[in-house]
Amino acid sequence: MSIALRTWPRPERGALFVVSGASGTGKTTLVQEALRHIPGLGFSVSATTRPMRPGEVDGRDYHFIDRPRFDAMVSSGELLEWAEVYGQRYGTPRAPVDAAMARGDSVLLDIDVQGARQVRAAMPQAVTIFVLPPDIQTMERRLRARSTDSDAVIAHRMANAQKQLAGAAEVDFVVVNDDLESAQDQLQAVLVAELCRRSRHPSMIARFTR
Ligand code: ADP
Ligand code: 5GP
Repeated sequence: MSIALRTWPRPERGALFVVSGASGTGKTTLVQEALRHIPGLGFSVSATTRPMRPGEVDGRDYHFIDRPRFDAMVSSGELLEWAEVYGQRYGTPRAPVDAAMARGDSVLLDIDVQGARQVRAAMPQAVTIFVLPPDIQTMERRLRARSTDSDAVIAHRMANAQKQLAGAAEVDFVVVNDDLESAQDQLQAVLVAELCRRSRHPSMIARFTR
């Protein structure tokens, strides 16, 4: 039973949400469900040099681009943050995030721990959320079950997991993805609570307090 909002007090000041965590913890699964349930929340489509996985759509899941194009985006300052993750580059295009924030809309970034640090440094108002696995063995089992990575890539992801998981100490909120429905509720509860924050609704408050 995930939170389904039917009426929505749209915040005047949108939020920039950053969801991070080690690979295989379930970020993509949780984020996609949250985007379906929470109106007015947009997903920041990252640029990446990694090959497309079956089922992914260019422009929806990622902008799939080659390395020269990626490096040109870095040089021209088009990326809000970027990082190399398992030999591939990933970055957040700056313009759509700036435009959404200027309109008062909310945006959600699903990025790695290095990227989350860069966003926090550039935009301290960002709301950071970390997805934790119930334990390391479950995380590895899920990566294998996903069947999208070679054994070598999975081994590399697992070797890096401890370093990635240390990122949990730096965020505002944590979500533990053991039972999927419960994790969905945790993430959506965090997003909704943040969007209900008084400071995001100044005119509505003024109407009743004048
Ligand atoms: P990430 O985006 O963090 O790398 P994914 O969302 O791709 O992780 O999840 C990794 C795999 O684990 C996927 O196959 C997904 O369906 C599965 N998964 C995610 N959450 C759960 C859960 N709570 N229980 C069981 N399997 C899960
Ligand atoms: P995947 O290849 O599994 O889609 O993603 C691998 C990792 O890259 C995940 O941890 C994901 O959150 C991260 N990632 C995706 N987009 C970006 C981005 O724009 N910037 C950064 N820094 N990491 C990203």
